[in-house]
Amino acid sequence: MTGEKLLYIETFGCQMNVSDSEKVAALLKSEGYAPTADSSAADLIIVNTCSVREKAEHKVYSYLGRFRGLKRERRFLLGVGGCVAQQEGERLLKRVPWLDLVFGTHNLHLLPEMVRAAEQGERRAAVDFIDNETRLDLFPRADEAGGATRFVTVMQGCDNFCSYCIVPYVRGREISRRSAEIVEEIRNAVAAGVREVTLLGQNVNSYGLKTPGELTFAGLLREISAIDGLERIRFTTSHPKDISPDLIACFAELPKLCAHIHLPAQAGSDIILERMNRGYSRQEYLAKVAALKAARPGIQITGDIIVGFPGETEDDFLQTLSLMEEVRYTDIFSFAYSPRPETAAAAFAGRVARKETQERLDRVQELQRDMTIERHAGFVGTCQAVLVEGMSKRGDQLYGRTDGNLIVNFAGDPALIGSLVDVRITRGYPNSLLGELTTVQ
Ligand code: SF4
Repeated sequence: MTGEKLLYIETFGCQMNVSDSEKVAALLKSEGYAPTADSSAADLIIVNTCSVREKAEHKVYSYLGRFRGLKRERRFLLGVGGCVAQQEGERLLKRVPWLDLVFGTHNLHLLPEMVRAAEQGERRAAVDFIDNETRLDLFPRADEAGGATRFVTVMQGCDNFCSYCIVPYVRGREISRRSAEIVEEIRNAVAAGVREVTLLGQNVNSYGLKTPGELTFAGLLREISAIDGLERIRFTTSHPKDISPDLIACFAELPKLCAHIHLPAQAGSDIILERMNRGYSRQEYLAKVAALKAARPGIQITGDIIVGFPGETEDDFLQTLSLMEEVRYTDIFSFAYSPRPETAAAAFAGRVARKETQERLDRVQELQRDMTIERHAGFVGTCQAVLVEGMSKRGDQLYGRTDGNLIVNFAGDPALIGSLVDVRITRGYPNSLLGELTTVQ
């Protein structure tokens, strides 16, 4: 291929995948690929997959199926990355003959070489786990992306082995990036116009704990908070077991740290939490929530809930509902349990019937919908500082986020994108708020 080449990336799953996709775009820029939002014009389509959700492999195979006919109509390359690629490896190439390359979560660095090979007609899969030193050097950096907000990966992998979760198998063990490098990256990003960073990791709370002499996560937040010109800091995800009193204190101490935390409980029953290998009890979880609310009044708490975990009785499930009511989450991600290959829970007895699981999921979602609507209604009449991120999907309004991570749509000049503005909230919807611009900060 010659001339300008276009790259289309379809990203599924978590923010770690979004961050990996940014890295893919940056890596392939050096190979002459410019990003496009139009898959039908792309010379290279990368599908960045996630294996956390139910039937993930099946969905990826069926998604890839749609490219079979397209490949006959025009010439383009097709690649698959992410967690399903890590899990399936060569099998993907064998089962999908029109696929050109497969790269795992540890092999992003090989991508330029693999794409060059694919351009010459060579199909390759690279899904090896690599050593920690190499991994450290390959941490996604986002220096080249534009905009006022930036994801910054601070650690990767997980040592927790929750019994349902595939992450430790597809992302590997925890490893933390050096704090000096993170701070420098954020300083450079701020100099380039970034005003908000979101620090990413599967379990940011254990940042630095395995590296002698390294800062803790709370220490890292304090260092980042001292960067002039940076206005907001967010982070995700936080394991409730590992959130320390020092980290909770940061919410009281650091005004730049946004008033939002994603703290996944997963279940409200001690029996299920134990079987999930979560490492905390219901009471311990609620004590941490109370400490966070005391440290930062008005903090928005979001979470994850799994229903239908093996052995979950109606009584266990009712405890999940009551936990949700006690916490009063702003919003949650809710999942019906599905066994993932290699995980401990895949072998557990006591499968909950699909119908019952679905019914529990419906009840969880109904309760949360009511709580979210109530929470959003509570903002009507208040004035919120909003960092403007772009044009809304309908294209006729701006959108941005409050300090508590709520999405606000409002009318305004696109020149405000990237600015912090004050917005008076006029209406609450189930997924967002509507407001009126008052002042530009
Ligand atoms: S903490 Fe548990 S759920 Fe989260 S990534 Fe690690 S193993 Fe998975």
